[in-house]
Amino acid sequence: MKKLICLLVSFLLLTGMCAVAEEALFTPGTYEVETQGFGGPITVSVTVTDSEITDVSITGDQETPGLGAVAVANLGDAIEKAQTPNVEAVSGATVSSNAIIAAATEALESAGADIAKLDAQRRDLTEGETVREDKTIDTEIVIVGAGGAGMTAAIMARQAGKDFVILEKMPYVGGNTTKATGGMNAAETHYQKEQGIEDTVAQFVEDTMKGGHQLNNPDLVQTLAANSAAAIDWLDSIGAQLPKVSFSGGATNARIHAPEDGSGVGGYLVDKFSSTLDEMGVQVMLNTRATELLVEDGAVCGVLAEGPDANYTIHAKAVILTTGGFGANEDMYTQYRPDLKGTVTTNAPGATGDGIVMAQAVGADLVDIEQIQLHPTVEQTTSMLITESVRGDGAILVNQQGERFINELETRDVVSAAELAQPEQYAYIIFDQYLRDNLKAIEKYVKNNLTVQADTIEELATSLNIPAENLAKTLADWNQCVANQEDTLFGRTTGMNNPLETPPYYAIQIAPGIHHTMGGVRINTSAEVLNTEGNPIPGLFAAGEVTGGVHGGNRLGGNAVADIVVFGRIAAESAIAFCK
Ligand code: ADP
Repeated sequence: MKKLICLLVSFLLLTGMCAVAEEALFTPGTYEVETQGFGGPITVSVTVTDSEITDVSITGDQETPGLGAVAVANLGDAIEKAQTPNVEAVSGATVSSNAIIAAATEALESAGADIAKLDAQRRDLTEGETVREDKTIDTEIVIVGAGGAGMTAAIMARQAGKDFVILEKMPYVGGNTTKATGGMNAAETHYQKEQGIEDTVAQFVEDTMKGGHQLNNPDLVQTLAANSAAAIDWLDSIGAQLPKVSFSGGATNARIHAPEDGSGVGGYLVDKFSSTLDEMGVQVMLNTRATELLVEDGAVCGVLAEGPDANYTIHAKAVILTTGGFGANEDMYTQYRPDLKGTVTTNAPGATGDGIVMAQAVGADLVDIEQIQLHPTVEQTTSMLITESVRGDGAILVNQQGERFINELETRDVVSAAELAQPEQYAYIIFDQYLRDNLKAIEKYVKNNLTVQADTIEELATSLNIPAENLAKTLADWNQCVANQEDTLFGRTTGMNNPLETPPYYAIQIAPGIHHTMGGVRINTSAEVLNTEGNPIPGLFAAGEVTGGVHGGNRLGGNAVADIVVFGRIAAESAIAFCK
């Protein structure tokens, strides 16, 4: 919890409140409050004179790169400019932003501030902003969106010596890719061979088609699987190794590839991609949103974009759309799926479907647009996704009666539906200290107070208001299933290596949240965007979540990262060939 460490309160404090003039807003000095952010402690230090906030310094080195880090970097300035702690949270970094705002409020209250009065006197944040210019850029390729697919395409374009620009509407790169926690599916990789894992491209195709309810475009799935091992080699070549191979929902064989140290694959890859781009001298144009595709004689030839201080007209021979999905755009997903109104989302704030809308405006066809995946383990108060690896490593799900109700490693749609079929429409994910010790991701959940912890299963049940004898029986039965390697209740066959028997025990209450939009613009195996007649739109390419067809009616865990690397590379190759 928060700890007030009021520091360096100036000599005026000693002279007491009586010395403060009548209209003084603060007791001058520096006030420091330590609080808990998304990834670790954050310290907010506020300096005030009697009438003004003169400095807000925030330190918090362990915030999620991109999201919390932006909150740490930007909110201090915003508070200083507005002269009140009640500034807008950085979207996508709500936990960090709220922690910072609450800590700044506490610090200012310690300085004697009346926050309501500060709010009433709030200063305009846009004061002093410069007039926007119109700028024109001529280049060969424009890449729109700097998530996993966009940065993959950018690295490829630079490796081929192409002239290009990459736009990103948010103040940071990474998009939804940053949030990918599991890994990347790939078959017949050198890692699998070295570890004696037998797997085939054909099995990968079969699993993906089955997981997607056979709705997927088989040609795209074949392309995904057949190029996955080469994608792993390419990642190796830029120093992004994914050597840890394990099972994931819907996969027949151990196929999901993750970083050695157990960290989330998305954050790891985004770091590697952005440092590679830095080393290559590529600067992503941040805070720059593409608004429209330019077309001449039926061919796409550039984009219009809005930057922080300029409007851009960017002329190019080819455009690659890598703008991600629309899981953060409630209007758009309820347009296609009214039943999902009000469902929480795990998506990054940039996932608003811009690329789909822009492509449609130039005649692109859409495919499977109503196919939206719910992720079954989302903590509802923070929208934080509890990674599938927790179940993959051995956790179980129980309902409010303390009973299992599904094979926890069934596909995401099946597990989500099973949760929604429980009377309370939520469940608890249950694990033990052994799992915590072996999965780094769990620390984040504990630090954010998402976990309920107890020394015995009975105590855990009591804390959750679950009948204690039920939970004890469920755990005993489950541990017996693990010992026998046979799940007699629900036929689970994977994630059965660790019995849940090492106290303390943990539970997190979870329910489904919007996770992935499977549908999007229709592409062919060369990542060319197709029009409603099925013909490529010259000059327009797309890769990643903006596209549809790869995942069909349900995406398997590990296939989003495979999609962005495989099709990000193909889109770049096709665009490069088109420029010639
Ligand atoms: P993928 O996994 O397909 O790479 P991500 O969600 O990781 O998708 O990345 C998509 C990126 O595109 C995000 O960083 C998002 O902010 C960015 N983006 C979305 N719309 C636009 C736009 N209109 N202009 C520029 N960038 C955009």
